[in-house]
Amino acid sequence: MSDLENFRAETRAWLEANCPAEMRLPIKGEDDMCWGGRNFKFKNDAQKLWLDTMAQRGWTVPDWPKEYGGGGLNPAETKILKQEMASLKCRSPLSSFGIWMLGPALLHFGTEEQKKHYLPQIARGEIRWCQGYSEPGSGSDLVSLQTYGEDKGDHWVVNGQKVWTSYADKADWIFCLVRTDKNDKYKGISFLLFDMESEGVSTKPIKLISGNSPFCETFFDDVKVPKDQIVGELNRGWDVAKYLLGHEREMISGGGLSADMPSIGAAFAEVAELDPILRAEFAAFDVETLAFRAMSEKFMDELKAGKGHPAQPNMMKYAGTELNKKRHELIMAAGGSDALEWESEASNHGAKPRGWLRTKANSIEGGTSEIMLNVISKRILDLPGA
Ligand SMILES: Cc1cc2nc3c(=O)[nH]c(=O)nc-3n(C[C@H](O)[C@H](O)[C@H](O)COP(=O)(O)OP(=O)(O)OC[C@H]3O[C@@H](n4cnc5c(N)ncnc54)[C@H](O)[C@@H]3O)c2cc1C
Repeated sequence: MSDLENFRAETRAWLEANCPAEMRLPIKGEDDMCWGGRNFKFKNDAQKLWLDTMAQRGWTVPDWPKEYGGGGLNPAETKILKQEMASLKCRSPLSSFGIWMLGPALLHFGTEEQKKHYLPQIARGEIRWCQGYSEPGSGSDLVSLQTYGEDKGDHWVVNGQKVWTSYADKADWIFCLVRTDKNDKYKGISFLLFDMESEGVSTKPIKLISGNSPFCETFFDDVKVPKDQIVGELNRGWDVAKYLLGHEREMISGGGLSADMPSIGAAFAEVAELDPILRAEFAAFDVETLAFRAMSEKFMDELKAGKGHPAQPNMMKYAGTELNKKRHELIMAAGGSDALEWESEASNHGAKPRGWLRTKANSIEGGTSEIMLNVISKRILDLPGA
């Protein structure tokens, strides 16, 4: 057996022995996900055990270096671990903005002290992070942000407002873009980390069309931030912000179309048999999903080998989120008017319409589809700007 075949066999045996049965059931809603953090209430003992067991092995972040709490796996091993988890239906042990977004940015831009301090906490799910990018009037044109950090010698004093801050009311810390020089639009932004319990931080939930309220308005009123909580150079936070956005877009792109998801044609075979138009749409969708997965896998391999085009995450984000919206349109079409009910068996107690409405946000969060198309046309197709 080759080394990788050995690794696959050992991984499978380890997962079979260690992943609790409850952590192999399908995730039905938000409260089945493990977010970790200071105030997180585990749904059951199995959820906590699974997080701790995986974290101990470094497998909440399998491809991070071991000295920062990771598993030290190479890209091929990481892929095998994901495949084996998918085939055994093991849940992800931790959902985390720290893993998906901040961690990669810290690995790239952080000081050694910052890596040693923050990364293991992220890997163990001890700190829940939120993202302070958008402001009223600064979404797509993010670089126009106005939240200001005034230099007070050994610390900054931060004043301003963020908006659409997902889970700000549940997060422990924030990674935040702050203007530190008012004279230069791009080279006047710094990337700061601070505790959401700092004096002067407050949040206000925003209710969504789906009836949920995962995000907030976030206010900073004379918040004191120590100087060593900057990531990257002073006024060069835009570089960190863009790097992080690449990872965010990659993460959002794959959200609804993971490899363990059944084909929509198979899932709705009975409907497909009776309705030729839907049958054709299911088939077209399943073909497009396979093509998307092949593209994602190719891009991920290229990215890990340092050969990827920097705008590839924009292509993935555009294609993945538009496809995910289509998937939920088809689920609703297959379910008919019953699927629209807010409280019933047919709508899976509202999960179907909530899931469908939530996908409307996929092509907005992390940069809208229009912005992705702008980037693709300029940076990949080399079309002239307006
Ligand atoms: C579910 C969800 C979660 C989010 N979570 C967070 C979070 O945790 N933290 C955070 O900081 N932000 C978060 N956001 C905010 C998100 O990043 C912004 O909504 C997004 O960047 C768009 O900005 P905007 O809402 O200000 O829209 P605008 O920028 O005002 O855009 C409005 C419309 O104009 C279009 N448009 C704007 N400029 C152009 C252009 N140059 N060319 C063509 N069309 C254009 C846009 O595509 C869009 O259709 C979240 C958003 C959603 C929906």
